[in-house]
Amino acid sequence: MNKKILLLCISFFCLASTNAYSKFADLSRITPTIGKQSINLWFWKIASTIDDQDDIENNLLDTISSVDPNVKIYVHWFDSNDEYYWFFYNANRKNDIPSFQLRLFRNYVLSSYYLNAVGHNDYHILVAEDKWGDYSGVAYLRGHFSLSSDDNEKIAAHVMGHMLNAQHNYDTSWFSASIMYPHPSYWLYTLQTKFWNSDNQHSVGRTLKKLKHFPDSKLIDIEYLGDDSTKNAKKYNGLKWDESRANIHKLLVEKNTIYDITIIQADFDTYLYVYDKDGNLLDKNDDGGPGSWSKLEHQDFGSAKEVYLVVSGYKRASGEYKIRLTDYKTLIIEDSDTLSSLGENNNLRNFINLNNKVWIKVHNGIWVGEITLPQRFLGKKRKVTLTVDSRWPVKVIFTVNRIKKSRIVSQGEEITWVNTGDGWLIK
Ligand SMILES: [Zn+2]
Repeated sequence: MNKKILLLCISFFCLASTNAYSKFADLSRITPTIGKQSINLWFWKIASTIDDQDDIENNLLDTISSVDPNVKIYVHWFDSNDEYYWFFYNANRKNDIPSFQLRLFRNYVLSSYYLNAVGHNDYHILVAEDKWGDYSGVAYLRGHFSLSSDDNEKIAAHVMGHMLNAQHNYDTSWFSASIMYPHPSYWLYTLQTKFWNSDNQHSVGRTLKKLKHFPDSKLIDIEYLGDDSTKNAKKYNGLKWDESRANIHKLLVEKNTIYDITIIQADFDTYLYVYDKDGNLLDKNDDGGPGSWSKLEHQDFGSAKEVYLVVSGYKRASGEYKIRLTDYKTLIIEDSDTLSSLGENNNLRNFINLNNKVWIKVHNGIWVGEITLPQRFLGKKRKVTLTVDSRWPVKVIFTVNRIKKSRIVSQGEEITWVNTGDGWLIK
């Protein structure tokens, strides 16, 4: 009879996470990733003898990808090749009390590499050759820190399960057991990396979905022209051109709006990227702006959503810069009430004041006999487009060079007016 309970799960929530990574400013080991759902997986070796690195790693990758194959995992081994290894080694000397060792490890990593605690995608496993008393592993449930001995090369995968919010279960099939079986070295069963019960699969899947791709973004708005700098920014992996210091700006965009995003007054050669909230790269630019600055024009995001602007530098350069955002709004008018009230109370003029383009779509069932384009309005670049799909034509009255003109727009026609300094021209 196997008497050992090998895994201890401390079930309180770890202080979920971190924000700044720059206490050892150039210890670029902990480099968050921009882009697709991703995990930074850190194995910290407290023993030099661990010889199953590949197995440990592959079992863990297998386990995660069996729940969500889209998660990208970056694996890092922290060992004596690292210049800070001996600080780590001395601060985390092996002892036999798993809860003590785990707390020591967590405190060490947080205080050495993280400045504060906000959501991130780093997971840390301290790997030792021997067990801690009777325990071969321990993890914070839904946390970011765990211990795993080399007693069995599936243990790291098991503790990773706990960090991703999986609980123990006793499911077995023939001589196989679920990866979350509580006694991984019980002689009768072999833990299977892809063997989950449905509860665990569900909760792990949910945790993976929530992994943050842009943990350190600051919200900006369309008026944004603040001074910014990548000089002390964090380094990120996953940028298309190279690993680099980058600033991340979150922007809430609107529907029917087109954006120009320009880097100005930069003292370095910039790169500019736009991502959606799921980490998909939407567009990128190197030198589209003045000099070697970046610019992305005519960005149409389709609907109201959050997007992420990432600014970094060519060949890891960094420096000061500003972002200029210009938005071009289109107002589409096609509902009967608005169409029939265009002539009242300066309605059309107000719409033109507030939008770069007003697109009037006239259809059957509504009578729009005549539209007058206002002579005066706010803003500079303005367009009015009229699409007529009704049997009755629409007469448009407008002024150009102080001369009043009119144009009849018939079914099937689409006409656009653009303003000049002296009125409206048909485009
Ligand atoms: Zn466990």
